[in-house]
Amino acid sequence: MSDRRDYIRVVHTATTRGSLDLVAIERAVNGTAPEGMTGLELHEATRILIRADLSATAISAQLRVPVATLRAWFPVELAAPVEDTSPVECGTRRGYRVCKRRPQGACKPCKAANTAHDYELRRRRYGAAA
Ligand SMILES: [Zn+2]
Repeated sequence: MSDRRDYIRVVHTATTRGSLDLVAIERAVNGTAPEGMTGLELHEATRILIRADLSATAISAQLRVPVATLRAWFPVELAAPVEDTSPVECGTRRGYRVCKRRPQGACKPCKAANTAHDYELRRRRYGAAA
């Protein structure tokens, strides 16, 4: 028995479908480098890997197709993750990094937090005398 996990079978009866080389697609979706595959074959392999629940990044690495191309092919299935829009907390190091990009610059609590952070770094690097 193979210990290979979740082998994806693409070839059932025919080894081609239209212009698609199903053998090449089956190899590619199971981890063989996708050499000489056509755009259509890579597109089909992507569809199969999406169904197997792989992320855009994982599919990109496996099929050597840029994530942007994968997302252009499957805009819904491989939609970019929603950006973290949670409000930044002023008076923290993370807050400072966001706050300082505002037109009015960082607020007082953020500057204070950043100064304290820098001070702490220097103290750790050079000792209490710094
Ligand atoms: Zn702030």
